[in-house]
Amino acid sequence: MAERMLKFVATPQALPDKRAAAERRRDFEEIYASYARDKAAEQASRCSQCGVPFCQIHCPLHNNIPDWLKLTAEGRLEEAYELSSATNNFPEICGRICPQDRLCEGNCVIEKGFESVTIGSVEKFITDTAWRQGWVRPITPRRERPESIGIVGAGPAGLAAAEQLRRKGYQVTVYDRYDRVGGLLIYGIPNFKLEKEIVQRRETLLRESKVTFVLNCEVGRDVTLAELRQRHAAVLIATGVYKARDIAAPGVGLPGIAPALDYLTASNRHGLGDSVAAFESGELDAKGKNVVVIGGGDTAMDCVRTAVRQGARSVKCLYRRDRANMPGSQREVKHAEEEGVEFVWLSSPQAFLGKDHVSHVRTVRIHLGMPDSSGRQAPQEIPDSHVNVEADLVLMALGFDPEDLPAAMATPDLGVTGWGTLKIDWKTMMTNQDGVFAAGDIVRGASLVVWAVRDGRDAAERIHAWLGAKAAAGVAVAAE
Ligand code: FAD
Ligand code: SF4
Ligand code: SF4
Repeated sequence: MAERMLKFVATPQALPDKRAAAERRRDFEEIYASYARDKAAEQASRCSQCGVPFCQIHCPLHNNIPDWLKLTAEGRLEEAYELSSATNNFPEICGRICPQDRLCEGNCVIEKGFESVTIGSVEKFITDTAWRQGWVRPITPRRERPESIGIVGAGPAGLAAAEQLRRKGYQVTVYDRYDRVGGLLIYGIPNFKLEKEIVQRRETLLRESKVTFVLNCEVGRDVTLAELRQRHAAVLIATGVYKARDIAAPGVGLPGIAPALDYLTASNRHGLGDSVAAFESGELDAKGKNVVVIGGGDTAMDCVRTAVRQGARSVKCLYRRDRANMPGSQREVKHAEEEGVEFVWLSSPQAFLGKDHVSHVRTVRIHLGMPDSSGRQAPQEIPDSHVNVEADLVLMALGFDPEDLPAAMATPDLGVTGWGTLKIDWKTMMTNQDGVFAAGDIVRGASLVVWAVRDGRDAAERIHAWLGAKAAAGVAVAAE
């Protein structure tokens, strides 16, 4: 083994420099700087090159982490890039927004005695360097294939599938109801986690690779699924999950209460230079307001940190469980606390008060009881423990469910699970409609970008195998 590795005993963990909270609160720029080249090499050299790398096992893409860390430590960055991009379509995006503490880094074996290798930051550094150096190039397939594939949804699942299929030479068209490419990467996740140009340069690359995008096109409204099946040899549905969960509580319909994603989308669109009526009227702008966000996941964290940056007077996050049991990343909670967000753990909303507009959230204190059937401690209300929390803007970040897809796609017999997600045969990734595949959140329920990429890649492989089998059997398929 190179003497460059195994430096974790003498070299402490160092993330890239993080901007001071007081500065971060004033803008929407990413909060971490990039590693300098020697710092990336130094941090990569802390890896002990495990024989059984648990980091790799727990990365949904099974990235070859030890090898690209070694290449980085040796300064062989172009090779590191080739290796990391072989298993991940968007390494610089995952390096920024994967919850590494629950995936690769959380399973790094040197974590116990010494802090883990900073895998995500090195992954981001490798690919950002590749972009700067011009090593990221459009796809030129070895041979063009006549078959065309239609992909519904330009989020990470759809885009990863598009890239993989294009590599194989298929003619790929991606349809999206939005006016921009990226799905939640562009309209959900805020700039301070993932700057928009990082997503937009991927779109440009796909366009240069001759992937066709049909935007402002909602499948089910502007074109039917049946038409797409006529037009394409195979169709992939990667439409994500968008129906906001709600709570039944008195006053829940009052003005001043909004779904989290409406708020984040307005903020992202405003940042992109769009004119957004609900933002400009002040309805979805937190400036000068007492903001209360309800929920404890990634979406809630993005809302509280956006509200801080918009100049809210106060920002509170109400969550009915405690810090240890929240679904959001602990790293994000730390960032939010540094930026001035107050977390009110073990607290649940009971009613929304106000005459013409919300003025307070009536909350009740929670005690975590015995574990329920899911293994999680059940929240129980503590009698007579009410507190009224002042609020001018309440954001509901309680999670997402799928829309009624068979109705939305005018395909009543499209198979769904009890949760409303698309039912697929996991071996083929096909729905119950011949030649219609599915991937990403619409199959898993609200999940992670890295899982969407994994599903998109898997779906591309299965579509290729299915078309190959059809061709071998002599069945004609549609060409564009
Ligand atoms: P999406 O990204 O939702 O893309 C689906 C696309 O399909 C959209 O562009 C939509 O417009 C389009 N579409 C839907 N219906 C139709 C139709 N009928 N016709 C045409 N187009 C249609 N994950 C992380 O890993 N890290 C994070 O930090 C993180 N933060 C998040 C923050 C927020 C606020 C949210 C909401 C999610 C976050 N996630 C995060 C989760 C992650 O964004 C999703 O798991 C991922 O984007 C799912 O990818 P997808 O391609 O399946 O769907
Ligand atoms: Fe870690 Fe995500 Fe990168 Fe995998 S893709 S190595 S989980 S940051
Ligand atoms: Fe290196 Fe940690 Fe992965 Fe082991 S688990 S190979 S030390 S990054």
